[in-house]
Amino acid sequence: MKLPDFTEFEPFKALRLTMGARKAGHFELFNPERHLNGRERSELDLQGKQLPLHRLKQFADTTWGLKNTRLVVYLAEANHYHLAQCPITQSWAYNQNVWVTTRRTGHLPLGDKSTSHQVCAECLQLLSYKGFDLQKNRKITYSKNLIKTFSREEFFRIYTLYPVQGLAEKFT
Ligand SMILES: [Zn+2]
Repeated sequence: MKLPDFTEFEPFKALRLTMGARKAGHFELFNPERHLNGRERSELDLQGKQLPLHRLKQFADTTWGLKNTRLVVYLAEANHYHLAQCPITQSWAYNQNVWVTTRRTGHLPLGDKSTSHQVCAECLQLLSYKGFDLQKNRKITYSKNLIKTFSREEFFRIYTLYPVQGLAEKFT
């Protein structure tokens, strides 16, 4: 008896995508439109990548993304890097070339070079990251200290770097 091949059966494929079935024994469906491949992930981590702003995703929780991965976004000549769609990033032109990386520790890559940008306070304000609020007097000291001790590694444990699932994109 020959069993029908359900691996190409569209409703099941859609269901598996919805389920995010990734564990051993589940179907591993790789969609290059939605998932970064190994080479892309390693490039983003090690060298960073330059892309026009409109290629990035604006996730509904206000973080930035590429496919199903969150990002750090920055300009080579600036002093700060961005984790969210703060007013500074919103002021950039949609075709502005920006650097993006997924690097969680140390300096940010600029291809073969690197830069020691600081985290953007406006991004932390927008995200209310760990209660960050420079607009409330009683929180100013706390918030300034949060900037000094800020860790991207910790940030990307709270805002999972990869994979980002089930997070609608803002439509702009
Ligand atoms: Zn920012």
